[in-house]
Amino acid sequence: QDDALAAPHRAGGADWDAHGAGNSTRANAAFVILARNSDVWEILGSIRGIEDRFNRKYNYPYVFLNDEPFNDEFKRHTSAIASGPCSYGLVPREHWEEPEWIDESKAAEERKKMADAGVIYGDSRGYRRMCRYQSGYFFRHPLLDTYDYYWRIEPSVKFYCDIDYDPFRYMADNKKKYGWTVSLYEYEKTIPTLWKTTKEFIEKHPEHLASPNMRQWLVNDKDEYNRCHFWSNFEIGDLNFFRSKAYLDYFDYLDHAGGFSMERWGDAPVHSIAAALFLKPEEIHWFHDIGYMHPPFLHCPKDSASRCACNPKDPNAFGNWKKLRPNWASE
Ligand code: GDP
Ligand code: MN
Repeated sequence: QDDALAAPHRAGGADWDAHGAGNSTRANAAFVILARNSDVWEILGSIRGIEDRFNRKYNYPYVFLNDEPFNDEFKRHTSAIASGPCSYGLVPREHWEEPEWIDESKAAEERKKMADAGVIYGDSRGYRRMCRYQSGYFFRHPLLDTYDYYWRIEPSVKFYCDIDYDPFRYMADNKKKYGWTVSLYEYEKTIPTLWKTTKEFIEKHPEHLASPNMRQWLVNDKDEYNRCHFWSNFEIGDLNFFRSKAYLDYFDYLDHAGGFSMERWGDAPVHSIAAALFLKPEEIHWFHDIGYMHPPFLHCPKDSASRCACNPKDPNAFGNWKKLRPNWASE
């Protein structure tokens, strides 16, 4: 069952309407947080950060999603710290559990192999379910039906700079469909057949390719996937992109190929490949002005006038570790 809680210090709609700065120009958008009840304390830190740096002036709503019902503790603490209204949704089982064509004993064997090879979350079925959900289902949750844009927030993230404009509004005004801050290379062992499967899909559905697109950002000189991806724990996106026929057909094709269970396909490479193929380059935006950290990596804007509380020379800052720095055209 889904619940809604008004932020307690904004009882009723009137206060909300009167005080949310820029309400008339606000985009139709919400923060989206997939979390477990046990994530509550780490989530509070993330919300505190986004509120202090941005949302206290805008009061955008939050949508929390969970495969189990949220408990009162989670709801009480999160709604107390959020300046916008909070709603709490249960993920339907059929969006979370493996589809019927997945052979669970084979999947368990593959998980064991990946764990033995030392891959992070190699043995976790839950992590694979989460990745598949973030790839193919979060945007179908009924609580998001009325929104056009989302900003994904995860536990334990930091925002280093004041954000003195509305990134949602920026997306809408500039017709951007996918926004990111950090890009990395995916672990090879988690996606052995993702690119092959993607190429099959493109051959079957050439009509879905944008023209022009960012395909060249995805490949090396042998036309193999170079494993570049936008780090999806931060995303500001247009939900209508994910609801598009191109994206839904792509997800469905991947889902039938079984790699969410038999390998460990992540939502980051899936979203990134889809954005690079089905969007025009100018529809993808690098929010280079948003200083951000998800352990262990961060993005720290180099311009000191951005007044960010981070060190652009941090060895873990995006741009400093050459090995983990996919080329980005506008960099
Ligand atoms: P990592 O960033 O890849 O190390 O993975 P996280 O542990 O941060 O998980 C990614 C996101 O999914 C976070 O927002 C988690 O709170 C959420 N998440 C991960 N596993 C589960 C799960 O089993 N249930 C729910 N409800 N959320 C999950
Ligand atoms: Mn995370």
